[in-house]
Amino acid sequence: MPSDNYAIDTATSIAYFSMEVALASSLPTYAGGLGVLAGDTIRAAADLKVPMIAISLLHRRGHFQQTLDADGWQHEAPAQWEVGRYATEQDPRVRVRLAGRDVQLRAWLYDVPGCCERSVPLLLLDADLAENRPEDRRLTDRLYLGSREDRLAQEVILGVGGVRMLRALGLNQIARFHMNEGHAALLVAELLREHMHTHGKQEVDAEAVSAVKAQCVFTTHTPIAAGHDRFTHEQLRAVIEEQAALERSGLFEHDGMLNMTYAGLNLSQYINGVAERHGQVSQHMYASYVIDAITNGVHAGTWTGPHMAKVFDRHIKGWREDYFDLRYAAGIPIEVIGQAHVQAKVALLEHLRKTAGVAWSPDVLTIGFARRATAYKRPDLLLSDLDRLESIASSHGALQIVYAGKAHPEDHAGKKIIQRIIQISRQLPDCIRLVYLPEYDMDLARLLVSGVDVWLNTPRPPLEASGTSGMKAALNGVPSLSVLDGWWLEGCIEGVTGWAIGPEHTGVETRPETDDYEDAESLYDKLQSAVLPLFYNDPLDFLEVRRHSIALNGSFFNTHRMLQQYVVRAYL
Ligand SMILES: *Cc1c(COP(=O)(O)O)cnc(C)c1O
Repeated sequence: MPSDNYAIDTATSIAYFSMEVALASSLPTYAGGLGVLAGDTIRAAADLKVPMIAISLLHRRGHFQQTLDADGWQHEAPAQWEVGRYATEQDPRVRVRLAGRDVQLRAWLYDVPGCCERSVPLLLLDADLAENRPEDRRLTDRLYLGSREDRLAQEVILGVGGVRMLRALGLNQIARFHMNEGHAALLVAELLREHMHTHGKQEVDAEAVSAVKAQCVFTTHTPIAAGHDRFTHEQLRAVIEEQAALERSGLFEHDGMLNMTYAGLNLSQYINGVAERHGQVSQHMYASYVIDAITNGVHAGTWTGPHMAKVFDRHIKGWREDYFDLRYAAGIPIEVIGQAHVQAKVALLEHLRKTAGVAWSPDVLTIGFARRATAYKRPDLLLSDLDRLESIASSHGALQIVYAGKAHPEDHAGKKIIQRIIQISRQLPDCIRLVYLPEYDMDLARLLVSGVDVWLNTPRPPLEASGTSGMKAALNGVPSLSVLDGWWLEGCIEGVTGWAIGPEHTGVETRPETDDYEDAESLYDKLQSAVLPLFYNDPLDFLEVRRHSIALNGSFFNTHRMLQQYVVRAYL
């Protein structure tokens, strides 16, 4: 009954709040991993018929479009999208108070389809209404606005406006409010206000806290301080008026600031990190809370390239409805997997020919590295000793290396790294080819994770909370060569699903920069002694690694497994 798809079911019981959601490349409503995870979670909920509704902001002018100039410097342009083509305006209007003004909000409904007739509604909140003042109309234009006051206003719109919009649409049976990171944590302020209003209370008391707590789930996504939103009391007062009771409650307070992570922690009955190690690191950071771990996953229907998907359709009936079935990839003949990979690689090389003007060979080992360009991810670790890299490539076999990724507009160091990689690409010997592709988005990600031979990841442990692009690669039979951090601590079986770089970093403290040299040496050693010999001398054994990547890792590191864990541990 397709008409049911477009009605919002008022019996929906789970509300998933995220500041960014990756829906499609043409919709620039996301910045990176957090948004991709949100989109994959919602798509999985649609597949599995989990009664979910999702809430985000419209981001009419998107994140940004990246161009790289002749010097390799990143420039940003707005990424406008045509809202009416993709989403339908809903009737209700809700109001939030911001800086002493009433700001009206509307919602656009974007229907996120699942594999089997069902879909999950996503509400995109929009302040661009004629009733609002110009400075308020732009609050839902772009992701992560620059000033603290604007950021706080965006979080009020998401958290407070989001709950009010659910109520205005008749959703009064929500049993779980899931905060995807602290940006959504102000939803607890609205739930507290609702409780106090209903019970005629002036103060937040223990009963109010336990009533709200019983409904809330909080997922923390990064151990990096900058990822945790903090505001001063003055910033809070400048934006939110009705804050006195909340401030007095101390529930948002940490170290003299208002801390959205602590708001989430204090008012959630279930809290988790996004991989086993990240759960441990978070438990250390927030020692007085109980922190569980649910390892991230990716949506296989979205991230499996068309050639491999055709193989799965033929050999693993029903995989789109149940990703656990991907374990049966163990029975697919390796030459079938090999052929699908060659087709995906040819498609990638054709894209490189058209967009970067390079003619690369399908016979040469091709390494992919694409993710947000930022210092802790160490994108240039592979290029830290060019003499060593050249000696490996000239003696063990040529290398093609493809990079992509945006730096956050304010991350000068990240932009410098992109520039450095581009400048290096112009000085390399014949046996090493390198390109940096602009405008990393979902389509380019799918092309890369399916078309390269090896997926490289070199974060500084333990700062990669999970990482998901390596999971996308695994689904496509592309093994990872990665530092043991995030999901790879769980996914790496040496020589079977890929290869580890460096020693396992067991402490919760950040691995010091002085160890970069040791990690680079380990990366070069693995390339020289394991990856290149296997690729060039034992192609059948390399295909075996591809098959294991799918059967062992694709079948587990996906959002069907992940969402089922959320349902059992956090939603039920
Ligand atoms: C998957 C994905 C990411 C996140 O990749 P990580 O490995 O988690 O850093 C970021 N951007 C895009 C476009 C993606 O598809």
